[in-house]
Amino acid sequence: MRWKCQSRSTYNLSGDRPVTVAFWPLKGPYLALLTGPLLTRNGQSIFAANTCGGRLLMVSGECFCGAVSYEVADPLRDARSCHCSRCRKAFSGQASAYALVNPEKFNWVKGENLLTAYIGSHGAGLCFCSLCGSTLCGIVDGKVHGVTLGCVNGDPEVEIGYHIFVGSKARWEIIPEGVTTHEGAAPGS
Ligand SMILES: [Zn+2]
Ligand SMILES: [Zn+2]
Repeated sequence: MRWKCQSRSTYNLSGDRPVTVAFWPLKGPYLALLTGPLLTRNGQSIFAANTCGGRLLMVSGECFCGAVSYEVADPLRDARSCHCSRCRKAFSGQASAYALVNPEKFNWVKGENLLTAYIGSHGAGLCFCSLCGSTLCGIVDGKVHGVTLGCVNGDPEVEIGYHIFVGSKARWEIIPEGVTTHEGAAPGS
């Protein structure tokens, strides 16, 4: 069997040398081969099979002052916005904008020592940059659960799929027409 290289992409990870990755389509997942140095972070290979539909997707994010940054070597998923009064305060806005991550694929790149957290009595909470106050991620049972979309750099290739607790939105907020809304929690959650 002859494999035909389908695509070649060069990735420029923050602070690292550009790396070219070639993709060969296989049944199901794609085969990705590195043509540059193997990059590792915290002992884990960044490129090991972190492909999304044959493409490698590395999501990065940072706080307002730039002292804290992270990378997620996996696509974000289940992006949502919650309009409840608690999320308005936690996100200092009309609603949250939040997507789930695979905690195994999440790494702090810098400034982890500058993080501060507010954890509620139920073991869930949020992490902030102690210098500028940006809300960076959600924590559940001591693990990163999701990231705030406002701190994500560039296009993470997810869109907010639904808006929850619009029944308790602020009086001053106008929800655009055509978006998927739920008065309370999302059904089945
Ligand atoms: Zn900061
Ligand atoms: Zn909420």
